[in-house]
Amino acid sequence: MEQYYDKNSYRKKSMESVRTQLLKDNAYLLGIHLFLSIPYVLLSPHHMAIINIFSILFYLACFIFLKKSNHAPLLYSYLVLVEIMIHDIFCVLIFGWACEFQLWIITLISTFIKDYITPDKSEKHRKRFVSIIVGIGLLTFISLYFVTKYVKIPISDYPSSSVVSVFVVINSIIGFAGMSAFTTIFVQQMEYKYTQLHRLADYDQLTGLGNRYNMLDILAEEEKKSTSAAGYSVAMIDIDFFKKVNDTYGHNNGDIVLSDLANLLSFNLPEGIHVGRWGGEEFLVISDYQVNYSDFLTLLEQLRQRVSSHVFVFGSENTVHCTISLGAAKYEEGLSIQDVIQHADDNLYKAKKTGRNRLVAS
Ligand code: GH3
Ligand code: MG
Ligand code: MG
Repeated sequence: MEQYYDKNSYRKKSMESVRTQLLKDNAYLLGIHLFLSIPYVLLSPHHMAIINIFSILFYLACFIFLKKSNHAPLLYSYLVLVEIMIHDIFCVLIFGWACEFQLWIITLISTFIKDYITPDKSEKHRKRFVSIIVGIGLLTFISLYFVTKYVKIPISDYPSSSVVSVFVVINSIIGFAGMSAFTTIFVQQMEYKYTQLHRLADYDQLTGLGNRYNMLDILAEEEKKSTSAAGYSVAMIDIDFFKKVNDTYGHNNGDIVLSDLANLLSFNLPEGIHVGRWGGEEFLVISDYQVNYSDFLTLLEQLRQRVSSHVFVFGSENTVHCTISLGAAKYEEGLSIQDVIQHADDNLYKAKKTGRNRLVAS
């Protein structure tokens, strides 16, 4: 809890975990280039083996950079991007277009396309930046095609047809595997973000209960199913003298009482009953169209007793008793959702006026 509120230590910790992850990634990339030395050395006259030495030195230097720089994550990813591009350009120039190394450029470009479609990365300057990268990538791709076709490159060293076939297979597999891995990770991230957004939009952060919008959605569904014979019901709940709890014990402890009370209200509810936070210290209970109104009122009375007999504990020794007032109302033909809620609110007002800690129903 404490470290969550200490922003600096929280930021420092997450920075450290990112750094550890990047050091691991860097080790993988270095490993790949060390491994690549073998085929490059086997191919004479070793042009690519020499280029690869620079790549190895680059990743060794990155270890020092990652340990020292505070701006490491973003800058590192761009530096790696540039290294891959340069290494790839040399592969195409030395081994020729037929070996398909240019596929890597397309794979790299594709990873940026997401910036055009994700809602949270759609800022203008980001789009412009991505457009430049994609533009450079495409231009490089096209230039490489013409250069390898029409220009005699002094360092080019086209391999035999069997080596070309091996390169084509490896580059195609890695290209496709890279793309599908990227797509899978991207889709998973989007799904995760969607669930997060859904939770933020429909659920109250403090209590974890459905919020007002969520309750209105449920009511709209119930209204469709309700008839004059069987309709939904609602109850508005308000904590008695809650301001006093805040004034005496502070707003943070008031929050603890609120979330505790939400647990009490939502614990072990029968089927067809929903509880949500209507706002502030007010809660709404909905019984669906199949629940009998008198059963609903019995349940509400049980909730009232559950709260009044509960001891709210916070800090090491502070305890407080709280009570709630409840106003209930039932759907009747011709009444809108707002009307039913208004009737429940009127009854809540009566409960407050006639002594609190009670249920008034009509
Ligand atoms: P009554 O019995 O008439 O309802 O008295 P009350 O003191 O509960 O009513 P009032 O409307 O005067 O005060 C409600 C208080 O609820 C005031 C506000 O500070 C507090 N409150 C509303 N939302 C929150 C919240 O999210 N956290 C905390 N701690 N307090 C809240
Ligand atoms: Mg209130
Ligand atoms: Mg109140």
